[in-house]
Amino acid sequence: VVTPDATVDRRQADVVVIGAGAAGICAAIEAASFGARVVALDAGPSPGGAAAISSGLTCVVDSPLQRALGIRDSVRCALADWMTWGGPSADRVWARLYVERSASHVFEWLRRHGVEWVNVIQTEGNSVPRQHEPVGGGPTVVGLLLEEAARLGVEIRVSTSATRLLVDDGVLVGVATVSPSGSRVVDTRAAVVASGGFANSPSMLGTHGPRPGPGSRLLRGGAEHALGTGHELLSSVGAVFVGMDRVWTYAYGIVDPEDPTEERGLAFWATNDIWVNADGRRFHDESKRGGATATPALFAQTPATCWSIFDSDEALRATIAHPRFRNADGTPSSERVAQLLGRSRYAHSALTIPELAHAAGIPSEALANTVGELSDWFANGVTVDPRFGRNLQAFRPLTTPPFYAVQMFPLARKCLGGVRTNRECRVIQTDGSHVMGLYAAGEVAGMAGGHMNGQAALEGTMLGPSMFSGRLAARAALRALGYSARDTDG
Ligand SMILES: Cc1cc2nc3c(=O)[nH]c(=O)nc-3n(C[C@H](O)[C@H](O)[C@H](O)COP(=O)(O)OP(=O)(O)OC[C@H]3O[C@@H](n4cnc5c(N)ncnc54)[C@H](O)[C@@H]3O)c2cc1C
Repeated sequence: VVTPDATVDRRQADVVVIGAGAAGICAAIEAASFGARVVALDAGPSPGGAAAISSGLTCVVDSPLQRALGIRDSVRCALADWMTWGGPSADRVWARLYVERSASHVFEWLRRHGVEWVNVIQTEGNSVPRQHEPVGGGPTVVGLLLEEAARLGVEIRVSTSATRLLVDDGVLVGVATVSPSGSRVVDTRAAVVASGGFANSPSMLGTHGPRPGPGSRLLRGGAEHALGTGHELLSSVGAVFVGMDRVWTYAYGIVDPEDPTEERGLAFWATNDIWVNADGRRFHDESKRGGATATPALFAQTPATCWSIFDSDEALRATIAHPRFRNADGTPSSERVAQLLGRSRYAHSALTIPELAHAAGIPSEALANTVGELSDWFANGVTVDPRFGRNLQAFRPLTTPPFYAVQMFPLARKCLGGVRTNRECRVIQTDGSHVMGLYAAGEVAGMAGGHMNGQAALEGTMLGPSMFSGRLAARAALRALGYSARDTDG
C-alpha cells in the first residue's frame, strides 16, 4: 500500500482497478498473477471497503468442509434455493456459474491464500448450511489478500478516488483520479470498476432505498465509502443499471453512537429476545430475522421501529456485527456491546419490566402482558408460539434482571442491483454496446451481471460472488489485452 505520490503525474497500468474491496483486491491479484501491471485505487484511507468490516460469511456449495461435516449439498439444490428466494429477477446464468464454481474459485482459492474455514451455518432460504465462516471474519480475509497483492507487486493507492473514466471513440484510455496530493490521470486500456454499493449515500438511498415513513428512519449500514461514486462514473458513460431499488435492508439496525448525526447504523443481534412495536406488542416470529421476512414485518408497523427486549443473561451473548465489537482475536466482545448498551440513548435497562417500559416509552401494561404471555406459554409446555409460529423450544423466558430494551430501525446494508454487465463483466451501455476496456464487478454490479441475487439474498451471496466476479473481470480484461489468461482453477 502506498500513499499518493505527489511527484509523478502520469503512470501507465495494464489494468486499473477502481476500489480495493472484495472484488477489487481479487481482480488485482488475478491480473497481477498473469504478469500484468496493476494499479488499484481506493477512496478510503485503507483498502478493504465493506469486506474489511464484514463477518466474512461466504456462500459456498458442496465444499470439502460441508462434506467433512456431513452436510449434503449440490448445485441443483443451491440453485433451486437461489431462484426461489431471489424470484424471477435473479440472474439464473450468473447464479449457476457461481454456485457451480464457488467451491473451486472461492473456497479453495481463498484457502490457497491462507484463509481458514472453520464453520458452516444455515441462514433463511437455504435448505442446508452453506454460509462458510472464515477465521477472523472479513478483516482477516482482506488482510491475507492484501499480502498476496503486495507479493505480486500490485500498487494500491489509498485516499485516491476515481473521478472520471476517460473514453476516446468508444475505447477506454484512462482513469482520472483525485487524492490529497492533487488530480492525476492513469493511462490504461482496461479498468475494472469495483467500487462497492451505495448504502452509505443519503442521496442515493433517498432515491432508491425503502421509505420507512414517519416516526422511523432508514439507518445507513454500508461501508464508509459506499457512496455510489462508481455508479456515477458508469452512468456518465451511458451504462445501464438494473434492480437499483433492491437495497437489502435488515430489521435489526441500532443507531451508531459514534455518529453524531445518528444516521449511521450497526447490526445488533440478540437471539433470546422478544421484539415489540411501539404498542408494546409482538408482530413477528423473531427467529426469522432476515431481510425477506423480518424487514417487511417491521415495515408493516407504524412507525417502522421496534424494541428488542431481553434479560441480562442474553446481554452477555448479544453481538454487534462490526470489527469495533470484536476482540483482537476476532471473537465477539460482550464487554464492548455492554459499553454501547450503557451509553446509547436508544438502549434502556431496568430491574422490572414495567420500569423498562417506562424508560423506553413503551406502554407498560402491554409490554408486561407480552413478556408474561411468552413465559406462560413456556411454563405450560407450549412448543410453538400460537401467534406467530416461533419455536418456543429454543426460547428461554426473560427472568434475570436487569432487563433491556434496545430500539431498532431498518438498516440499509447491501445493494442487490447495479450496473448491467455481460458474462465477461463488460459494462453494457443503453444502446447495447460496450466501452472497450471497461468492466465492472462486485456490489456496483449487483455482485455480478447486474442483479444476480434478485429480490432477496440467501446471505453470504455478496462477498463470494464479488470476489468471483472480480477475478472473472480481470481475466476478461487481460484476454482483451492479448494475455493468455486462462482459468486454472479447474
Ligand atoms: C458491515 C457489513 C457486513 C457484511 N457482511 C457480509 C457477510 O458476512 N457476507 C457477505 O456475503 N456480505 C457481507 N456484506 C456485504 C459485502 O461485504 C459486500 O457486498 C462486498 O464487500 C462487496 O464487495 P465490493 O468489492 O464490491 O465492495 P467493497 O468491499 O465495499 O469495496 C469497494 C471499495 O471501493 C472503494 N471506492 C468506492 N468508490 C470509489 C472511487 N470512486 N474510487 C476509488 N475507490 C472507491 C471503497 O473505498 C471500497 O474500499 C457486509 C457488508 C457490510 C457493510
